[in-house]
Amino acid sequence: MIQRDAPGSLAEFARSLAASGPSAWPVLLRRFWPAHEADPQPPAAGTPEENAFERFCAQTFLQPYAEFLADRAAIREPEVRRSICPYCGSRPLAGVLRPEGDGAKRSLVCSFCRTEWDYVRIACPACEESNEKNLCVYATDRFAQVRVEACDTCRTYIKTVDLTRDGRAVPEVDELASIPLSLWADEKGYRKITPNFVGL
Ligand SMILES: [Zn+2]
Ligand SMILES: [Zn+2]
Repeated sequence: MIQRDAPGSLAEFARSLAASGPSAWPVLLRRFWPAHEADPQPPAAGTPEENAFERFCAQTFLQPYAEFLADRAAIREPEVRRSICPYCGSRPLAGVLRPEGDGAKRSLVCSFCRTEWDYVRIACPACEESNEKNLCVYATDRFAQVRVEACDTCRTYIKTVDLTRDGRAVPEVDELASIPLSLWADEKGYRKITPNFVGL
């Protein structure tokens, strides 16, 4: 499908990946499966464009499978609220605000297996800064249900999808659909906690 529908150089990359044959594919897929400290991933060897294409091809293939496994796993709610996925250990793709009582509670969605888990409302998921003076929220009318939550301590941001404003929003879709917000945050010098599958 990528070969058929993607823009030129990505389609060309997919063509060469298809031609490399079944013995080469598991090597690529393993490289993008979440690593563990005891078994770190080797660094990517290609050009930045090749690495981005490899990531795109591997993640679009692996992500639904990881989600399938996570959906069927008995994931225990961790005793301490952490900012990494309780199932696969990956970093969050986005935050989610869901209605709770008169307010909202915040959870995080995994960038790999899409597990969602509770997280503290006011804290940076990258460095755990919880001093409100160093945490800022940017919002715009154009994407009323998505906000940029940025940390001035570590200069990282995460986008949070606010389901109290739009109950039909889908975190991973609205995160992707609000790319102008990511470009804006990049221009301000913030780095995204985890790039999405298009690398932004
Ligand atoms: Zn996960
Ligand atoms: Zn931070």
